Amino acid sequence: MRRFVIAGNWKMHKNVAETSAFIEGLTAAAPSTAVDVVIGPPATSLPSAAMLLTGSPIGLAAQNCHWETSGAYTGEISAAMLSELGVGWVIVGHSERRTLFAETDRTARDRARAAQAAGLDVIYCIGETLEEREAERTFDVLQSQTDGLGALDPAHLVVAYEPVWAIGTGVTASPEQAQEAHAFVRSCLERAYSAADAAAVRILYGGSMKPSNAADLLSKPDVDGGLIGGASLDVDSFSAIIRAAADCAAGE
Ligand code: PEP
Repeated sequence: MRRFVIAGNWKMHKNVAETSAFIEGLTAAAPSTAVDVVIGPPATSLPSAAMLLTGSPIGLAAQNCHWETSGAYTGEISAAMLSELGVGWVIVGHSERRTLFAETDRTARDRARAAQAAGLDVIYCIGETLEEREAERTFDVLQSQTDGLGALDPAHLVVAYEPVWAIGTGVTASPEQAQEAHAFVRSCLERAYSAADAAAVRILYGGSMKPSNAADLLSKPDVDGGLIGGASLDVDSFSAIIRAAADCAAGE
């Protein structure tokens, strides 16, 4: 039985004060302990967020890390530096990193390896563009994006399937489209890991998940949670998605 993960990717939103207010609101909403809840603020908010979340079940994610432990990499942050702050997770290979900042499968995998070596859990993002889906290349893309994952420790890996055409667009994959892609991703993981390890990796759906569609998406057998952008910025909508996951876990 895989525990749901509901993770928020805040992108370049919320300053330190706004982050603190969000954490206070989310803590007051007492999110279900049956679900792994993670927030991903910008790097500037991580130190104060880590302090506020000390002893809390709410996990803290960075949105990127470098693949080296230190060196002449202006503007970069190493996984060990994040770990030192109390960060427990890192989002790697997001489509915005791939499109806008020249991330490749190779650099994403290297970042993920460095993150795991520093003791962080990785949310590894993959997903096809609209053009690739229309050309019926979705499975080819997912296969090549997961090819290097055998180098990672499956016990500290969460995969996020995020069709690029659904991110920030308001267009969501149907539950059937998500399940089809997730089942295929799991078959790719079965080639990289033992059957038991592949079965234990959580695969999240990302792409315009919101309170109104979360329950349907989360009802699918291989959809093990969500990576949420826009709807993770508001305590009420993020909490509603967490509740949908908790209800689903309870079989309601
Ligand atoms: C994301 O950026 O990871 C994402 C899923 O965004 P949104 O929920 O806004 O589509």
